[in-house]
Amino acid sequence: MSDLEAFRREVRDWIVANYPASLRAPLRSESDETPWGGRKTRYSNPDVKLWMDRMAARGWGCPDWAVEHGGAGLEPDAVRVLREELAGAGCRPAVFSFGLMMLAPVLREFASEEQKQRFLPPIARGEIRWCQGYSEPGAGSDLASLKTRAEDGGDHWLVNGQKIWTSYADQSDWIFCLVRTNTESKHGGISFLLIDMTSPGIEVRPIRLISGKSPFCEVFFTDVRVPKENLIGKPGEGWKIAKRLLQYERTNISQQVQSGLGGTPGGLSLAELAKRHRGEQQGRIADAHVRELVARHEMQSEAIALTLRRVQEESGRFGPSATSSITKALGAQHNKDKFELMLEIMGQAALGWDGAPFEADDVEICHQWLRSKGNSIEGGTSEIQTNIVAKQVLGLPD
Ligand SMILES: Cc1cc2nc3c(=O)[nH]c(=O)nc-3n(C[C@H](O)[C@H](O)[C@H](O)COP(=O)(O)OP(=O)(O)OC[C@H]3O[C@@H](n4cnc5c(N)ncnc54)[C@H](O)[C@@H]3O)c2cc1C
Repeated sequence: MSDLEAFRREVRDWIVANYPASLRAPLRSESDETPWGGRKTRYSNPDVKLWMDRMAARGWGCPDWAVEHGGAGLEPDAVRVLREELAGAGCRPAVFSFGLMMLAPVLREFASEEQKQRFLPPIARGEIRWCQGYSEPGAGSDLASLKTRAEDGGDHWLVNGQKIWTSYADQSDWIFCLVRTNTESKHGGISFLLIDMTSPGIEVRPIRLISGKSPFCEVFFTDVRVPKENLIGKPGEGWKIAKRLLQYERTNISQQVQSGLGGTPGGLSLAELAKRHRGEQQGRIADAHVRELVARHEMQSEAIALTLRRVQEESGRFGPSATSSITKALGAQHNKDKFELMLEIMGQAALGWDGAPFEADDVEICHQWLRSKGNSIEGGTSEIQTNIVAKQVLGLPD
């Protein structure tokens, strides 16, 4: 038996012995079983944390990372085998966090070895939850207009300013922040700073949304002292790091769209949803018009899945690039279209907001339909993605 086959067997046996039975059902989006990690997150099912800890002990959440960074130091072939076995057994991710999806890749690229050893292991193990401090009241699409200042205080940075739309700031332990260390150069005056949310001078105010949830917050910084060693890269290098992080973010948003392609939040296919609401005739959706809409959407899903796969394979080999803007914009529109279609399929059942006579799954679709409207805004609006594609992918003039 080759080493790789032996490893496959070891992984398979380990999963049988260690994967909690209560996590066999697929993870629903926006579920309180989402393994965000961190000190404040509470799970309705304690097995979420158990699985997180068991995977962390093996370093298998980030198997390609060095052991001293919280990974398992596995070679690419072993990583592939591990991922195949975890996916084949239907295992949920051990950690699903902004730290893992956005911050860790740029730390691996731009941080000093000391910073990697300090910040990567708690991300890999799901011990620290991170939020993203980019947007400000006057800096969204034109992000480089940001004004939050970080002044050199000798052994520390003194931070003053405000962030907005900071998803889950009230649930997070740390924030990765874009700050202005120099006012003379718009882009060249931006730096990338890591800030402990328990630092004196930070105030977090949740913003309530139309979907009934409050993932957004405003974050205020008043004379917050941040140790010098929390700056990633050199002062003024923040814009380069910020743009790279956005490429990782957009790639991840696209992957999430891919994993939800065609399905409802409750795990039904669109066809199953349509049969439930519009009836079934000889195994098909009874309503011919709805049948055609579902078929058209499913074909589009297939085409998008192929494009996503192509872009992912390219970014897996060469790192993410501006093509992440294609899949981000495409995926955002497709997800919004999917929820519009679900509402059309459901008819009156889509009017439900809370409780009887509406089914919990239908109510969830209605909430998520409202949430989907943010898809073409978060991580950079679709208009901005189209601009990036025009300039950086197609090479069109300004
Ligand atoms: C669900 C969600 C989660 C988010 N989470 C976070 C987070 O965790 N952290 C964070 O920092 N931010 C977060 N954001 C904020 C998000 O990044 C910004 O909302 C986004 O970048 C747009 O900025 P803005 O809201 O200021 O809109 P504006 O920049 O004011 O844009 C308004 C409109 O003008 C258009 N527009 C602007 N400039 C141009 C241009 N040059 N060409 C063409 N059209 C243009 C835009 O496309 C948009 O339609 C989140 C947003 C959402 C919806």
